[in-house]
Amino acid sequence: MPTASEPRLIQQFEGAPWEIEGYLKAGGYEAWKRCVQDMKAAQIVEELKKSGLRGRGGAGFPTGVKWDKVLNHRVKERYFVCNAGEHEPGTFKDRHLLKTLPHQLIEGCLIASYTVQAKASFIYVNHEYQEERENLHKALAQAKARGILGKNVFGSGVDIDLQVFEGHGSYVAGEETAMLESMQGRPAMPRQKPPFYPTDFGLYGKPTLVNNVETLCNIPRILYKGASWFTQVGTEKCPGTMMFSLSGAVNRPGVYEMPMGVTIRELIERCSGGVPGGRKIKAVFPGGPAFSMVTADQLDLPMDFDSLKKAGTGLGSAGVIVVDDATCMVAKTLHFSNFFKGESCGQCPPCRMGTLNLAQLMAKIEEGQGTQKDLDSLLQLCGFVKGTGYCTLVTGAAVLVQSSVKLFRQEYEDHIRLQQCPYRPASVAV
Ligand code: NAD
Repeated sequence: MPTASEPRLIQQFEGAPWEIEGYLKAGGYEAWKRCVQDMKAAQIVEELKKSGLRGRGGAGFPTGVKWDKVLNHRVKERYFVCNAGEHEPGTFKDRHLLKTLPHQLIEGCLIASYTVQAKASFIYVNHEYQEERENLHKALAQAKARGILGKNVFGSGVDIDLQVFEGHGSYVAGEETAMLESMQGRPAMPRQKPPFYPTDFGLYGKPTLVNNVETLCNIPRILYKGASWFTQVGTEKCPGTMMFSLSGAVNRPGVYEMPMGVTIRELIERCSGGVPGGRKIKAVFPGGPAFSMVTADQLDLPMDFDSLKKAGTGLGSAGVIVVDDATCMVAKTLHFSNFFKGESCGQCPPCRMGTLNLAQLMAKIEEGQGTQKDLDSLLQLCGFVKGTGYCTLVTGAAVLVQSSVKLFRQEYEDHIRLQQCPYRPASVAV
């Protein structure tokens, strides 16, 4: 496990990622063996609770609590789904994990499925992640050939299988209820809440455990090395490490595993080698574009769920996007507003109309045709749509604009006053 002074890419095993030998040599599937041979489901859940592991998909919900809810649900027909429907702009850590550690993910999925006694289990992978799906199939075949999954695993009498489900290629399909809908053959649209959580009403309306790829990759090592090993790094309330996806104005974009609570500065300077061309940092999206930005004077903020929430933003799935001082913030914000507009599933009016109107007003201002009234309308619209909708998409779109105007209002005023962009955008793409 890395300490704050040793940033690194994730652990690698010998051989091609789908080849099982390297993983087995490093103790792979030992935790799974121990689970089926010696551990009761309640013990597994207890160890997870002790580890303090929190979901790495974006919200940081305690994993042990989620597993407990499904395990102890009165309805016995349950399902398990690994959510690899990764679409957040600037987040590509699950792709990296799928590509490089398919066996670790499979082991985490097997333990999850076994613990909640799932009737059927799936790994839902983005349509776009073709190579990753192929690797997963190869890895599953190797594990099956060794008796690690399938009938009577390790001679324990346990039968278990995992299916790879090719997902829908849209942002909203990664929202867990939209994902479940699409798995049932329906359009990938978020469900109306309540019922709030798949733990109560999931696949086919039955209790379902849904976990993110990174969350599941943590399970084998927690059970193999123990909860106390896991809590050696990170913060008290957010133990362990996080896979940070670093992109934008950095010298070495990539996925870096660092302890929870690492500062933004450390990520940018030590992991990704600073900003190219000696330019200065203007802003950072610490958790992707759906959370407020921070500015250059906030680079010592610790990157964990609680510290960022306290600072008025969020960690999300740790898609850290760095923006340099050669960038026009109006153009940058428009870029993401267009993303949200394009990805709204159109199901609920506040999102369908809200994301469209936000993007239109942003475009008008960016093109130098906006007025002061447009800027007022933009902010008013954010207030109207925030917190509405069946999922958080439109809220993210509003938070983005609010944060941008709050921190960089002068740039908006300049576009309106000069009727053009005075900040020639050097980079607007992520
Ligand atoms: P949420 O807080 O509603 O839920 C988080 C998880 O915990 C869900 O699985 C939910 O079912 C579960 N949960 C929460 N409370 C529960 C309870 N009381 N009982 C049982 N289960 C409970 O958040 P969300 O809307 O699912 O996720 C939003 C996050 O997703 C955002 O932070 C965003 O950053 C992130 N996101 C990630 C990606 C990605 O590609 N990884 C894409 C878009 C958004």
